[in-house]
Amino acid sequence: DVAEIPAVPEWLPEHLQAAGIESLYPPQAEAVEAGVTEGENLVASIPTASGKTLIAELAMLASVARGGKALYIVPLRALASEKHAEFEQFEQYGLDVGVSTGNYESEGGWLAGKDVIVATSEKVDSLVRNGAPWLEELTCVVADEVHLVDDGERGPTLEVTLAKLRRITADLQTVALSATIGNAGQLADWLDAELLDSDWRPIDLKKGVHYGQALHLEDGSQRELRVRDGEKQTAAIVRDTLEPDRDEDGTIREDGGSSLVFVNSRRNAEAAAGRLAGVVEEFLDAEEREALADVAAEIRDVSDTETSDDLADAVEGGAAFHHAGLSRGHRELVEDAFRDRLIKVVSATPTLAAGVNTPSRRVIVRDWRRYDGTAGGMTPLSVLEVHQMMGRAGRPGRDPYGEAVLTASSHDELDELFERYVWAEPEPVRSKLAAEPALRTHVLATVASGFASTREGLLEFLEATLYATQTDGRDRLEEVTDEVIAYLERNGFLTRDEGLTATNLGHTVSRLYLDPMSAAEIIDGLEAADDRPTVLGLYQLVARTPDMYELYLRSGEDEEYTMLAYEREEEFLGPMPSEFEDERFDDWLSALKTARLLEDWASELDEDEITDRYGIGPGDIRGKVEAASWLLGAAESLGGELGLEWTPAIRQARTRVEDGVREELLDLVSVRGVGRKRARRLYDAGIDDRAALREADKSAVLAALRGRRSTAETILENVGHRDPSMDGVEPDPEAAPTDG
Ligand code: ADP
Repeated sequence: DVAEIPAVPEWLPEHLQAAGIESLYPPQAEAVEAGVTEGENLVASIPTASGKTLIAELAMLASVARGGKALYIVPLRALASEKHAEFEQFEQYGLDVGVSTGNYESEGGWLAGKDVIVATSEKVDSLVRNGAPWLEELTCVVADEVHLVDDGERGPTLEVTLAKLRRITADLQTVALSATIGNAGQLADWLDAELLDSDWRPIDLKKGVHYGQALHLEDGSQRELRVRDGEKQTAAIVRDTLEPDRDEDGTIREDGGSSLVFVNSRRNAEAAAGRLAGVVEEFLDAEEREALADVAAEIRDVSDTETSDDLADAVEGGAAFHHAGLSRGHRELVEDAFRDRLIKVVSATPTLAAGVNTPSRRVIVRDWRRYDGTAGGMTPLSVLEVHQMMGRAGRPGRDPYGEAVLTASSHDELDELFERYVWAEPEPVRSKLAAEPALRTHVLATVASGFASTREGLLEFLEATLYATQTDGRDRLEEVTDEVIAYLERNGFLTRDEGLTATNLGHTVSRLYLDPMSAAEIIDGLEAADDRPTVLGLYQLVARTPDMYELYLRSGEDEEYTMLAYEREEEFLGPMPSEFEDERFDDWLSALKTARLLEDWASELDEDEITDRYGIGPGDIRGKVEAASWLLGAAESLGGELGLEWTPAIRQARTRVEDGVREELLDLVSVRGVGRKRARRLYDAGIDDRAALREADKSAVLAALRGRRSTAETILENVGHRDPSMDGVEPDPEAAPTDG
């Protein structure tokens, strides 16, 4: 009973009851018994959708009620806003909830007054590096999706950050939430925590594999599920899910339900949504069609791109795709309409499984292999990933049970899928800390923020990580650490005279949140420049650092970019590798591809043309632009620190890419409400800077903007025009309300 939970605020039971939570789920009750509301450390390894969030809330609320402060660490920015929105329900009781993502260079002083803070692990890491004083006041830290310590890219950051927080604050309560994994006990050992390891789910999950004309379920039963002539297997399963269940006499016993289809690439997600809309359409009634048309219109309003169009088209037919290339606006519209049961099927890449709360009656895992660049081919997904996707099946209180289905195209594959996923246990998670790129960053940060000042001290600190818990002897860790110390010393980030000390440059690199190798690359590049660098040169420089994700070259593009590389060789900062150094040369070309994308953007090429030209989504452009802007900002700081003379060129490259404009528009885009398109229109009409806009003839402004009169008025007001009222000016009937 929720009235019997010890140590939580007195308003909580009533609040939970009002939200329909009368009693705790069994794993939640076990967590309370283990003392989660009384400050005990806990590792909770339980299935997706089994109420982990409430366990975290109980711990945090109890901790705050004792006068403390709680931190909730999420793996993805998208989850930060979702969790923040969820915790805001407690503000009515006087709690102050804050969220902090982005901007890795500040100490987030404003967070000092918050009771509950949500942040990504990278953000927390950067707060530690910047010495945020309020971190000492933390009493409770929750790590969500802690099984991601297994992720080579981000896992080490989570691992080291938890170790640091636990060192900053003695008696910090640590609550780690994990999907079901093979070795939760090891995580509990690492964190000195009680272990809660449970398979309980609020709604039954039936796993199975579709093959031929039947669904084979894990209990050995089979059910007919026919694939029509010319129909794809996935389409047949989606159609079957949509069919209402009927009794013998034809009365509907159970309405049809929604499906979530997991595929292995964005392109596949988009293609599948288009096809599946054709399946869903016949099941829609007039009211649904109308509501879907509204959602489609909102989607088209978000942006004017091909992706936007494709998505809107699919949504009109009751289907949608979902992947990390979508803009946030698109993602939210899709998730909401799916939760409202308006969209009946979503085809998604696995990002959706990682925590966005969108359950559906059936989950179909269509692709169980994905392309892996480092392996050079298709590799199978982990059991953990597949089980997390499967866990999204079944909506408690709405469906009798959830069904998760893999698809097989041969009898052998049917057997393989049962062995590999249906009957298999998830694999154990393993620390990825002892890899050079991870240690490079974390060794520097650990020394720079004063957690260790000798080699021995450093190794001792690293003993508090999961890595150390998982390995006997510290040979490997010691070996890599020594290599990394030598690297950092060679590049001027650390000195090793008496103990270990970070240099000024080392401190800067750590605070900027740069991989030291990125910093070294940028510094070498800037030092190699004899003339003022061009934007392409600067973009290529930051694009070849390990902090920028690569755009892979598609087949046939080698030649195109090799030509371009020779054409523009003089602009590169630092020597271009020779064609005989295969791998380095390929990396150089990939960076050039990214650089040209950024140059196209900063030269006002249409978003649409860019997405076509590079085969990416609008969300990817945004991602590249943000990364470039951050890295160029860091380059400015490093250049300043080293007294290099190219700061103005770097700043211009940065502002141009941030606003997506040529140089001559930089002044105009600084006016609120004026984006790249409007600025260009004003400029072409002879209004070429802020001053000119302030003095401009109102009708000229309106004509130039080809927009709504109210838009023009707002802009004129923003720029401080003498008289923003536009009486007597006729608005253009073909008004374009938004600017891209
Ligand atoms: P997880 O984080 O484990 O994937 P969530 O915490 O998002 O799962 O919980 C899934 C759903 O279950 C949420 O909609 C939540 O409101 C609901 N829920 C959680 N605990 C209870 C409970 N004790 N009784 C009823 N519903 C609950």
